[in-house]
Amino acid sequence: MNLFKAQKMTFVVNTVILLLVIGLACFFYMVDAPFLIYFSIPTALVYLIGYYLIAKEWLHIYVWMVYLWLTIYMCVTTICLGYAYGFHLYCFSMIPVMYVTEYIAYKLERRSLRALYVSMGISLIYLFSTGYVALFGPIYERDQKLASFFWIFNALIVFGFLIFYTNYLIKMIISSEEKLREMAQVDPLTKLYNRRYMKRRLDGAKDRRTKGFLAMADIDDFKQINDHYGHAAGDEVLMYISNAMKEVCEDCDIARWGGEEFLIYSDKAENGAELMEALRKKIAAKPVSWEQKQIPVTITVGVSLRKEAQNVEAWIQDADEKLYHGKNNGKNVVIG
Ligand code: GH3
Ligand code: MG
Ligand code: MG
Repeated sequence: MNLFKAQKMTFVVNTVILLLVIGLACFFYMVDAPFLIYFSIPTALVYLIGYYLIAKEWLHIYVWMVYLWLTIYMCVTTICLGYAYGFHLYCFSMIPVMYVTEYIAYKLERRSLRALYVSMGISLIYLFSTGYVALFGPIYERDQKLASFFWIFNALIVFGFLIFYTNYLIKMIISSEEKLREMAQVDPLTKLYNRRYMKRRLDGAKDRRTKGFLAMADIDDFKQINDHYGHAAGDEVLMYISNAMKEVCEDCDIARWGGEEFLIYSDKAENGAELMEALRKKIAAKPVSWEQKQIPVTITVGVSLRKEAQNVEAWIQDADEKLYHGKNNGKNVVIG
């Protein structure tokens, strides 16, 4: 949700409410309720001012004004016509709208009303206006046939608002959570899992009967690539290697374990050394293209099959030691 979207949405809502106010003013004229006709004039003005506030991006002032006026409007129409018309139902629709507004304001880092307090205020006004009508009756006693038509119309709008806004709120929360989850477990550059996620994933493999392999891969002389071609080229190489890993080992969990070090885990495949050899060959066979330059890249990999009753830490260490062994034996090798 950005400011432009929030502005557009507020514009649409303002227009819908303004049209409703005009329609209702015609109805008040039909049923001869003079106070409500006059009351429609400042109401329409409030929404016309609303356009100005939206255009100025003063959305929090707009929201204050609209909630205040909607509550007064609801209260006045209920006292004038009674609750058979269902105007008091709008109180219910306003509650999710307020929570959505507070949430959007939070996301846009703008000030907003506390939905909790405003909804409590609205509940009190609801009780006051319906209580008044219950005790003294409405000011204008009008045709009850029209009342049922209005009850249905208002109830439909209220349900529409309730469904739309609640659904919208939940969708926004889910999409935020998805983004957060991705940020918490994925490395932004390579889109591989990060170390934190991989550790948790391996904790899930604590059962020592778990089969599969672990491979620790490290780019050879990566510092030289950075020094020679620049950091941006280094990043390109990291992304290239990451994609190659995903292609060669589709069923594996792959993490960026450190700067240019990767941990590959599979609980299915037993042929880890073969897979890693295929990966090593693929990477060594073709240089990485970057800005019309060809950057030769190789990797060294240590592969470890889990030994009987070996714990995860020892398993990782075994892969690491094999990698170290490979680095000391000329690099560009897979040690299994
Ligand atoms: P070896 O073959 O022994 O692995 O040598 P190496 O040069 O690859 O290893 P070294 O540990 O000396 O250097 C790793 C370099 O990786 C140093 C660091 O600046 C670089 N690096 C770490 N993270 C990133 C990154 O996100 N982007 C880029 N471009 N470079 C990174
Ligand atoms: Mg390296
Ligand atoms: Mg390294």
